[in-house]
Amino acid sequence: MNKPLCIKTTVCSQYQRLLEECERALEIWDERRAEDCGSRLGGREAGDELLRLQAKFARAYAVLQRHSQDCLLCQLASNMEGRDSENSSNALSNSAMYV
Ligand SMILES: [Zn+2]
Repeated sequence: MNKPLCIKTTVCSQYQRLLEECERALEIWDERRAEDCGSRLGGREAGDELLRLQAKFARAYAVLQRHSQDCLLCQLASNMEGRDSENSSNALSNSAMYV
């Protein structure tokens, strides 16, 4: 953990785990891609591998998204963060009541 992460600390350990999985998949994919560009060995096999890694990342990301939508803890956390937007939507519904 010595590189600056844009990951915010979260109360949900499962979210944290999924996020790390996602990050790792992305890292591996990036590395593979960089390797391919450098070596130019390419070929169909390398392309397949890259596709596989990309799919792995996409899947991990989808799971992460789904979790943050289904998980109560994560929703609480994002609600706390998005207080501003919630306020504005409250203001909207408030003003709607007065109309
Ligand atoms: Zn969660």
